[in-house]
Amino acid sequence: MSRKGLLIVISGPSGTGKGTICKELLSRNIPNLELSISVTTRKPRTGEIEGLNYFFKDKTDFIKMIENNEFIEYAKVYDNYYGTPKQYVFDRLNEGKDVILEIDTQGAVNVKNAFDEGILIFIMPPSFEELKNRILNRGTETLEDIKKRLRCANKEIRLSSYYDYLIVNDSIRSAADKIENILQAEKYKMKRVNIDYLNFEEE
Ligand code: ADP
Ligand code: 5GP
Repeated sequence: MSRKGLLIVISGPSGTGKGTICKELLSRNIPNLELSISVTTRKPRTGEIEGLNYFFKDKTDFIKMIENNEFIEYAKVYDNYYGTPKQYVFDRLNEGKDVILEIDTQGAVNVKNAFDEGILIFIMPPSFEELKNRILNRGTETLEDIKKRLRCANKEIRLSSYYDYLIVNDSIRSAADKIENILQAEKYKMKRVNIDYLNFEEE
């Protein structure tokens, strides 16, 4: 039975735990599960590696990629551009890999509009207060950037109604368990199961 891979979109406000949950899922060595690598104009943070965390490009090259229709979706997020490379993701899906896109809410909505087969999972923080604490404790942004991200969070949460699934990230392990269950169930959806090989015609 051959199945094309699943396109899984994990999205939600900054600081809600998307990256942590993806890391947890990948550490479980789930067969055929991969994380897509996005292209960004953001400068690499300390420790980030080209081709592992992101493909880092300047704005001119990013715009060329937009013009050449090389993205499944792209968006401007907090002053930088981010995009999902089409060839990279489609090659893997065609090999039967399940590919996770960890992207912002604008990107998720664009994937939903362009590709019916995308599975959209919204990661909700347990509360606004907890979201604030998580961003503050992560310590990767300036106070100004944190304020910007929190201002966007409410707008992003309103977009959750476009998604297929909603997971509250109160515990990393339990959020990842729930996502694993979703992936299991999605694989057995009638539209994804190839039953051509079964022949039930009477002789
Ligand atoms: P995002 O990728 O959505 O911006 P991160 O994965 O970077 O968010 O998580 C933001 C911060 O919250 C990190 O410091 C992470 O360790 C912490 N965090 C993530 N999930 C949880 C959780 N369930 N409980 C407590 N802290 C969490
Ligand atoms: P960061 O700069 O913290 O790595 O990411 C900032 C935001 O950009 C996060 O919400 C992240 O999910 C989002 N992001 C990362 N890659 C992509 C992408 O390819 N497309 C879109 N639309 N958003 C992305």
